Amino acid sequence: MTEIPEGGRAAAGTLEDLLAGRMPDERGRFGAYGGRFVPETLMPALELLERGASEALADPAFQAELGAQLADWIGRPTPLTRAVRLSERWDADVWLKREDLAHTGAHKINNAIGQALIARRMGARRVIAETGAGQHGVASAAACARLGLPCTVYMGEVDAARQRPNVQRMELLGARVVEVGSGDRTLRAAIDEALRDWVSDPESTYYLLGSAVGPHPYPWLVRQLQTVIGREARAGLLLASGDLPDAVVACVGGGSNAIGIFHAFLGDPEVDLVGIEAGGSGAGPGEHAATASRGTPGVLHGSHSLLLQDRFGQVRDTHSVSAGLDYPGVGPEHSFLAAVGRVRYTSVGDDEAVEALEECAAAEGIIPALESAHALAGGRRLARATPGSTILVGLSGRGDKDLGILDDLRRTGRTTSDAG
Ligand SMILES: *Cc1c(COP(=O)(O)O)cnc(C)c1O
Repeated sequence: MTEIPEGGRAAAGTLEDLLAGRMPDERGRFGAYGGRFVPETLMPALELLERGASEALADPAFQAELGAQLADWIGRPTPLTRAVRLSERWDADVWLKREDLAHTGAHKINNAIGQALIARRMGARRVIAETGAGQHGVASAAACARLGLPCTVYMGEVDAARQRPNVQRMELLGARVVEVGSGDRTLRAAIDEALRDWVSDPESTYYLLGSAVGPHPYPWLVRQLQTVIGREARAGLLLASGDLPDAVVACVGGGSNAIGIFHAFLGDPEVDLVGIEAGGSGAGPGEHAATASRGTPGVLHGSHSLLLQDRFGQVRDTHSVSAGLDYPGVGPEHSFLAAVGRVRYTSVGDDEAVEALEECAAAEGIIPALESAHALAGGRRLARATPGSTILVGLSGRGDKDLGILDDLRRTGRTTSDAG
């Protein structure tokens, strides 16, 4: 294990370092955050992955293959839609980057196909992945099917019970789903179990991690594979409107869709970048998952970052109506961007997110994922604060998967996820 940096120390490194490509540094740090806090037995596998991934991403032949998969199989570039009726209602110029139209219904596929290609290139014989609500599991299973790689997905028993259709999808796509009965029996336990599997066979197994979290090189690698969102959106908006947006808003769970859309705008100081976390049902412990806005430094799943913990360092339970945002950690690059003040992080509660989902569906004919609805609600708040501004919202995924949750809410006022 590498040494744990002192909590509360000011961020080492600047935004200029990040923009100049000097970050993550050779220890995998974004300023004070990031690194590799894993058992010694995993260090060689992470070093091998770092080398394999850097070589792949720098290889024009690999980029050509990735580009072809993004275009022909995922359907990129995804559209940039001007939300005409929301713009009128909010007195703003609102644009939606439509990751809901990417194959399998969310941005997660960008990362899954990229890493599956890297796994094949590195000669992996099998791929493993973790999943919470099942979205990353489905994306991984689809990407592995596409490339002919055997895939095993770890999923908590609680999640598997409340997300049956995603278990069916993964199995149809040829993946083996392993239900995890240990720990909290949700995403946290699934990640622990996937890491355990990887430790037992790091040579021939590739671990396909689903967000910009975990030990180095994952936060960097996942970001590199998701920056296509922001590159397309920035170019598309310049073409359509001739100008940059006043603000870019995205939801933050582990942080992959947000870092993916923010990155292209980090060097545009006039563009306000806003990350929206899950405010859940309240500000008390266990009621939300607002990690970057309310967390403190600590180590979770191999990385030093902000995290929701009690004063003894025990990771807190979290709550959100949206499973994809219900995670007590956040990627180290977000912790760094919060520390240097380049991105603002704030939270939107369950009720406000559901209301934004319903408003978008009725006004635009688009049912967003509950996760994405948090970003929409954040966009609406921004519009109220600065009328007439141009706001780009990252619509990370589609909401079909959330119909059951919305139904529960309407009938009982609570979701089955509360039972977890
Ligand atoms: C998983 C998911 C998220 C949250 O993950 P990030 O890594 O924070 O992007 C957001 N939106 C959708 C639709 C998701 O499936």
